[in-house]
Amino acid sequence: MEWLKERIMREGVVLSDQVLKLDALLTHQVDPALIMEMGREFAERFKEQEVTKVVTLESSGISVAFATAHHLGVPMVFARRKKTLLADPDALSERVPSFTKGIVTDIMVSRQFITENDRVLFIDDIIANGDAARGLIKIIHRAGARLVGLGVVIEKSFQAGARTLREQDVRVESLVDITSLENGQVHFGK
Ligand code: 5GP
Repeated sequence: MEWLKERIMREGVVLSDQVLKLDALLTHQVDPALIMEMGREFAERFKEQEVTKVVTLESSGISVAFATAHHLGVPMVFARRKKTLLADPDALSERVPSFTKGIVTDIMVSRQFITENDRVLFIDDIIANGDAARGLIKIIHRAGARLVGLGVVIEKSFQAGARTLREQDVRVESLVDITSLENGQVHFGK
């Protein structure tokens, strides 16, 4: 994924040893051509899995999940961050800590959009400690669906999220692995 590493080097901003700001290409502004290419890559990696739904979390997973779902020809569902009076009382929900906001949020998916007949591909932008992923995976399992894997654009492998999920036999595919952000430098593992 040299093209993606180049964009990260050019447009990413290292905020600390833990956080890489990617607002220019993923988490605020998005480049549609780049995002479609990411979706094509995830679709290729999971094409044998008979995926029926691509699932993600609002908001920054949505563009890549959309592109992946488009390439696979299946619907995309995004878990909403619960805050409205219109929230469905029968929805599946989980409480997850937010890595960047430092707060806890409730995420929810309406039962009608993930069912026991689904083979779900979970797509997200970045995995750090894995809290967000664990929350959504719990919802997928509680819906009775089968999780075929997690595709993340960026795995920060110096944090435990992806490793812990792989230890639990979740197939995790990342496009880029960042091994360190120390001294203001992005170091890639692959
Ligand atoms: P986790 O729950 O795995 O600790 O964090 C995952 C979520 O936090 C991601 O969906 C992403 O939105 C956000 N996040 C984690 N690390 C970073 C980072 O280094 N930069 C940015 N921009 N977001 C991050």
